[in-house]
Amino acid sequence: MKPVLALVGRPNVGKSTLFNRLTKSRDAIVADFAGLTRDRHYGTGRMGQREYIVIDTGGFEPEAGEGSIFREMARQTRQAIAEADAVIFVVDARAGLAGQDHDIANELRRLGKPCLLVANKAEGMREGAQLAEFYELGLGEVIAVSAAHGQGVRSMLDRALDAL
Ligand code: GDP
Ligand code: MG
Repeated sequence: MKPVLALVGRPNVGKSTLFNRLTKSRDAIVADFAGLTRDRHYGTGRMGQREYIVIDTGGFEPEAGEGSIFREMARQTRQAIAEADAVIFVVDARAGLAGQDHDIANELRRLGKPCLLVANKAEGMREGAQLAEFYELGLGEVIAVSAAHGQGVRSMLDRALDAL
């Protein structure tokens, strides 16, 4: 069985950009507008001999039925976490810590899945001060990456697969 990695995080942190990096797939549509991506949710990738499946979250189907877009996103996030062997929890290094980050962190703790905390958009940032606040989430080390530029993505993936 290929391990399943779920990308979760609030809208616009760069999950779909990271998904494209990890899967070499163009299936996830990257939009500049929060909540407007209609992602295909699954992709496959490979690192060396290791194959894996990645789940993107945050897309929505217009015909999803009643409930707000936000409720639909929360549902997708929970479902992806449930399906995953490990969760890549993405936060935005530039925007800083947000209330929704705490909500997701609490959910991850409750479910007890192996989890990697990844601060995206960290290109050109010095580690340390700017990432320190994310330690408040209580999920351990903060791994800086830039999905857009590919920085740190490989070693992050290595660690996600090693955590299984
Ligand atoms: P999602 O809503 O979490 O799936 O986020 P997206 O992948 O759609 O990205 C949201 C926005 O952040 C887009 O404008 C991306 O171009 C931008 N973005 C994604 N990754 C990076 C990054 O590493 N650095 C910077 N500066 N912007 C990024
Ligand atoms: Mg997206």
